[in-house]
Amino acid sequence: MTTSPVRSSTNGAIAGDQSVPTIKGEDGATVLGPDNVAVGAQNPGAPSTDSGSMPNLKFSFAAAHNRLLEGGWAREVTVRDLPVATTLAGVNMRLKAGAYRELHWHREAEWAFMLAGSARIAAIDQQGRNFIDDVGRGDLWNFRSGFPHSIQALEDCEFLLVFDDGNFSENETFLVTDWFAHTPKHVLANNFAVAQSAFDNIPTAGEIERSRYIFPGEVPGALVTDIESVRSPAGTAERMTHRMLAQDPIEVPGGSVRITDSKNFPSASTIAAAWVELQPGALREMHWHPNNDEWQYWLSGHARMTVFGSSGKARTYDFYPGDVGYVPRAMGHYFECVGDEPVQMLELFRSDHFEDFSANQWLGLTPQAVVAATLNLDQTTLDALRKDKPLLMPGQG
Ligand code: MN
Ligand code: MN
Repeated sequence: MTTSPVRSSTNGAIAGDQSVPTIKGEDGATVLGPDNVAVGAQNPGAPSTDSGSMPNLKFSFAAAHNRLLEGGWAREVTVRDLPVATTLAGVNMRLKAGAYRELHWHREAEWAFMLAGSARIAAIDQQGRNFIDDVGRGDLWNFRSGFPHSIQALEDCEFLLVFDDGNFSENETFLVTDWFAHTPKHVLANNFAVAQSAFDNIPTAGEIERSRYIFPGEVPGALVTDIESVRSPAGTAERMTHRMLAQDPIEVPGGSVRITDSKNFPSASTIAAAWVELQPGALREMHWHPNNDEWQYWLSGHARMTVFGSSGKARTYDFYPGDVGYVPRAMGHYFECVGDEPVQMLELFRSDHFEDFSANQWLGLTPQAVVAATLNLDQTTLDALRKDKPLLMPGQG
């Protein structure tokens, strides 16, 4: 029975026998010099199977710069924080009830998961078709590259945004106020066929940093009213929202998995996702992904993941709610739920589809003599190998 170093409801509160992460049995010693005890306690140290040099594969939103504004806040984990994470970047955003994430666009596609509360999104496509919808906890949206959009909180809400380029920065999107402030008034007047005085009150360049991007507002009325008020003559765009947690899960011993990619959510053409729920003691089996790197967001529980980097290299990381993890393409990995409460996490890939290879299934579909000669396994173990893909394995108690 593994003892969790963290109480179920509180990150970083230490209990149990792993409270001195620099000691393991006869190995290690106490810390005599300065030490950040809270951080150390969340990283209880490598199993003896770890070895060699690996890139850092973990960064927490709690350690990221947070941009605080009257309407909420936003913090990001990008390639600047986690240099190995070149494929995807993440933003954790909080909006107070009624607050706006300003009208804007960016080069990168935007995939989002609503963590708490609800919001209304609005966007258009290149053909002038619009899409307006409300999203609640467990729902997704996806704006393809360049699609202009806005978000407004229907109640206090928070969400994860994922962009299909690790170099993305939430602070460098194309804001409509920024553009207007840097366009001569006579051009604005000509462009919109109104008097120049119509733009007397647009936010100034000096105001935008503080009063736009994220700013307070009034909670809007019914969705249908908004939709009917701006019906496009070109029709409604492709669906840009998806109820991920309403999907029927793949239920297996140890937990469940939901996969959302372009097969069931065509709008998400560049970001594929898996929602994994793992019971205490259970394992997301040993596997790897042939198509791209994995960007992880950890939502609940305490998980421990080891990543195998070939040629004798392996490194173990502990994850708590609000952490970001990363696994370079093809590197073998597993993670286990080591706490008392279930782990919930998202696996994300810059790809139009989710795919993985199971170590168990691979060995189960290879002639037994080959497997036995390589790993010195007995017949009982060979017979236990699976021909299907387990995805998860329950703990052995
Ligand atoms: Mn955006
Ligand atoms: Mn994986």
